[in-house]
Amino acid sequence: RKMKKIQSINPYSGELIQEYNLLTQEEIDQSIDRSQIAFQAWKNESFTRKSNLLKRAGEELRRSKSYYAELITLEMGKVISESLAEIEKCAWVCDFYAEKGAEFLQPETILLADGHRAKVINQALGPILAVMPWNFPFWQVFRFAAPTLFAGNTALLKHASNVPQCAMAIEEVFKKAGFPSGVFQTLLIDSTQTLTLLENPAVMAVSLTGSEKAGAAVASAAGKNIKKSLLELGGSDPFIVLKDADIPLAAKTAAKARMINFGQSCIAAKRFIIESPVYDLFISIFIEEISSLNQGDPKDPQSQYSCMARPDLAEELFQQVQKSIDLGAKVVLGGIAPEKGSARFAPTILTDIPVNAPAYSEELFGPVACVFKVEDEEEAIKLANSTEFGLAASLWSKNQSHAEELAEKIESGAVFINAMVASNPFLPFGGIKKSGFGRELSRQGILEFVNTKTVYLG
Ligand code: NAP
Repeated sequence: RKMKKIQSINPYSGELIQEYNLLTQEEIDQSIDRSQIAFQAWKNESFTRKSNLLKRAGEELRRSKSYYAELITLEMGKVISESLAEIEKCAWVCDFYAEKGAEFLQPETILLADGHRAKVINQALGPILAVMPWNFPFWQVFRFAAPTLFAGNTALLKHASNVPQCAMAIEEVFKKAGFPSGVFQTLLIDSTQTLTLLENPAVMAVSLTGSEKAGAAVASAAGKNIKKSLLELGGSDPFIVLKDADIPLAAKTAAKARMINFGQSCIAAKRFIIESPVYDLFISIFIEEISSLNQGDPKDPQSQYSCMARPDLAEELFQQVQKSIDLGAKVVLGGIAPEKGSARFAPTILTDIPVNAPAYSEELFGPVACVFKVEDEEEAIKLANSTEFGLAASLWSKNQSHAEELAEKIESGAVFINAMVASNPFLPFGGIKKSGFGRELSRQGILEFVNTKTVYLG
């Protein structure tokens, strides 16, 4: 989107808080120069220094946790309890790479058949661009930045245009932690400027978390310039409940898995696939759980959900719901149109969804659950896989070994058995199909933006 100014708007009250000018081309070029200069020194810093700085970033996040959490709540309407948890998680990923980064990047020695040896070393690439979404405005950035910076790269952040204050605060976290100037920079730019940035030879690669459309645009620009891209895109994650599962626990977890971040999470469970003998029990508990959640001001610690991040997102989501209803889907909860210009949305559950409805095939990025009844597990797996997406899945059964076998048949980057899907620094995270490519977190995550160099010892 070509835009004139970047606006910070409180989605709960609709109030415009702040407006920012976009950077000029000259300012962007200066930032890239700073990033390149910073890289020359940063790449040679010891692991110990990098580790200490990351730990200090974690400390800064914890020290000013309320301040950062309030910014998230202010700009995108997440309830404060979840914003605080998000900041904690960012501190965790900083600690994780501070402790494990050096081990993950260790050179490997390979003994060849002829007796010669080779070393494989992992070296930083240079300035890496990050294009990030608003839904977890701190976590998405730290998940990228902690490993990428530890590996010796520098970072340029283009954040979603509705969270500029978060974007600037993240740069502050790194400054306050003592990272050298230029190692992490936030650029207040729009999408058009972002695509142009990829033409600059100094920018070595890009990591994008966001929609399919944004991913396709950014990966095309990267491809055109022969640059690596990592894409974390949308999902329509299945939550499969087999008839031998703990149904009350599955149904309660399902409500949480759908409603976390008011449904605006890529790994939220979106399609609930239930075997017919347990369908009625599941759906009655599921409806009760969702109906009993507290709606309120996002700043109120008692609120369990509040509003969506922008009124246009609420409107778009309702269009998907309305179209699905028009095509025959049944509403068992909610289904109420949001007020014009409001970001509030009534949690909704749909059943009997026809194949041609948006709710069947599109990602519903908000508090709308789609529940499907299936005759057996074979049909469950088939339905779980009948999507363009492949991010993650949750599978419920008391028969653990059978569930493990079924997990191999699910087309996704992760399967969680008897648990909701959640990212964790210890585990690789990413998707297949239209959910993207590449992995974040764990050892895989830190190896995405390095030059894995073979040094043959003749
Ligand atoms: P979005 O509209 O795609 O925006 C994501 C980022 O891409 C923003 O910084 C946006 O900037 C930028 N962007 C959009 N179009 C662009 C273009 N043509 N060229 C360059 N940059 C562009 O997504 P969103 O609404 O913020 O986030 C929701 C989506 O993200 C959902 O589909 C969700 O599933 C996905 N998501 C995936 C993960 C994951 O890990 N897989 C995690 C969270 C979210 P502007 O704001 O300036 O448009």
